[in-house]
Amino acid sequence: MSVLIDPYEEAKKQLRETVELLGLGEDVYEALAVPERLVQVRIPVRMDDGTVKTFIGWRSQHNSALGPYKGGIRYHPDTTANEVIALSMWMTWKCSLAGLPYGGGKGGVRVDPKKLSIKELERLSRGYFAAISEIVGEDLDIPAPDVYTNPQVMAWYLDEYSKIKRGFYFGVVTGKPVELGGLMTRVISTGLGTAITAKEAAKRVLGGVEGRTVAVQGFGNVGYYAALFLEEMGARVVAVSDSRGGIFNPDGLHIPDVMEFKNKTGTVVGYPKAQRHVSNEEILELKVDVLVPSAIENVITKSNAKNVKAKVISEGANGPTTVEAEKILTEMGVVIVPDILANAGGVIMSHIEWVNNRMGGWITEEEARRKLEERMMNSFNNVWKFWESKLDQKKHNLRAAAYAVAVDRVVKAMKLKGVL
Ligand code: NAD
Repeated sequence: MSVLIDPYEEAKKQLRETVELLGLGEDVYEALAVPERLVQVRIPVRMDDGTVKTFIGWRSQHNSALGPYKGGIRYHPDTTANEVIALSMWMTWKCSLAGLPYGGGKGGVRVDPKKLSIKELERLSRGYFAAISEIVGEDLDIPAPDVYTNPQVMAWYLDEYSKIKRGFYFGVVTGKPVELGGLMTRVISTGLGTAITAKEAAKRVLGGVEGRTVAVQGFGNVGYYAALFLEEMGARVVAVSDSRGGIFNPDGLHIPDVMEFKNKTGTVVGYPKAQRHVSNEEILELKVDVLVPSAIENVITKSNAKNVKAKVISEGANGPTTVEAEKILTEMGVVIVPDILANAGGVIMSHIEWVNNRMGGWITEEEARRKLEERMMNSFNNVWKFWESKLDQKKHNLRAAAYAVAVDRVVKAMKLKGVL
């Protein structure tokens, strides 16, 4: 399903288009197209059988005009330096758009974590963090979980860093376990944000989300909570899927009930109260009002875009719509809430966790959620206003507006500092 595309080339193309749209010069493009720093590290790990295996990892620090670098660390067998650079650039835009005092960073280790024992994973995690310990810090670069890393990995990072620096630095990573300064609200934050942006777009395009039909591809952390909150907001979630396939019921699915089934069986497929099975290709083309792709990248391409019936797409996943597909959808009048806006809830909650850590723990879970909702609404309104007032909506989708708002803020900060 996914198309082989170099993510760094894509990220540079998006930057090029935005620089042109804002009427900025080549100097701006050049200053933003390359990361401020890219570090590659070698991580030797003693395996359980006594041998030593060497892994390779990166940390890309794309831009720090707005504050310390922020972005997750992924463990994946296909991770490359280019992927990490692209992801760090996208983090710069995501943090800027959300109005956070952060720049963009991202890390990656080329490893298949499923092939490691828990002890090997711990040694790898401590080795990687020790190797990048000189360039991370509470006021310098603040990592978080990403693909195949989780609160446990963050706890090892925190412990390793605290030993090296001889002190307790809670704010050096976010997405930590609650016992070590994390927030319970982190788990719902991205999906809740995606649901809020879907609702706001539906309000403007369809007159409201109440009673509207929704399909969600990917029933993981983001997709589950997006579906759950959209259901709570009064929408009818008629289809959801995971890597094994999807289910459909025109009368609406009961999301907590579907999750209970998935927890027992490992998949949504076979859920007894569904009317029929749908494939992961079909779920994108169902006759629904709102589509929420929340699984993987490049699923809406030039070959299936014209079959999409939804009028609103809220991108829970990173990069689910290709550039060519977006052109087709824009001509069809489909409104796409782009990933850097729709799935920013996670990094917004990370910021709340970081502030909370640095203030010695003052926030309640209710306040954290309210602050997240407020910030998502502000970002959405800023982007919508820019789109309506400054762009030709038949030619540009919301993504162009989101990029313009985000890049403009970074460029202004660089100019104020005299970097540009
Ligand atoms: P997850 O692993 O919890 O869930 C992913 C879901 O997608 C699973 O249900 C899996 O079965 C399903 N899936 C995998 N391959 C699929 C396929 N080919 N077709 C359909 N479904 C498939 O992951 P997640 O944290 O929910 O992340 C999902 C997406 O959201 C990713 O693109 C991620 O980068 C993005 N994202 C996540 C967060 C976050 O806070 N978790 C924040 C921002 C962006």
